[in-house]
Amino acid sequence: MTWEELENSCKSCDKCPLGKTKTNTVFGVGNKNASLMFVGEAPGESEDKSGIPFVGRAGKLFDKYLLALGIDRNEVYIANILKCRPPNNRDPLPEEQDMCMSYLREQVRLIKPKMIVCLGRISAMKLIKPDFKITKEHGIFFKKGAFEIVAVYHPSLLLRDPSKREEMFTDMKVIKQKLEGMKNGN
Ligand code: SF4
Repeated sequence: MTWEELENSCKSCDKCPLGKTKTNTVFGVGNKNASLMFVGEAPGESEDKSGIPFVGRAGKLFDKYLLALGIDRNEVYIANILKCRPPNNRDPLPEEQDMCMSYLREQVRLIKPKMIVCLGRISAMKLIKPDFKITKEHGIFFKKGAFEIVAVYHPSLLLRDPSKREEMFTDMKVIKQKLEGMKNGN
């Protein structure tokens, strides 16, 4: 499947009921040849309105981390497991995640990133392992096929609990260092 076919199919998807309640499909944004891919759980209100992932308050905080570490948002790819917003920002249901995963799988197949960073517990539980514990296992790298995968706190959690921001900064610094090492063949 090409990018165009994938995006068109996603935007006209009605595999789950969220396709009927969304305003816009939030397919994903960024560099389609990115080494680094970020995956959150689902669009929120601002993302649903704009059709772009991570643009609300949490997205702006996330941008500050990227900026602080010299990571250009245009050089990475950012997507979610769900492409349509769950009403009232509730957690994505397991069956919604299962139905939507094919789009993310195809995005990963097309991008071929060196590293995937899960933003938050739900993404980590889906992409790393079902019993993932974000408070204990954030910042730990797992090897999955051709890429490394790691989880960090979701930016919306950092808005609610600023005491975790230092840990997030440490994780993001390690992620950047590891990615640079991978690019240099280390
Ligand atoms: S959330 Fe995913 S599976 Fe459900 S309608 Fe939207 S694109 Fe389709």
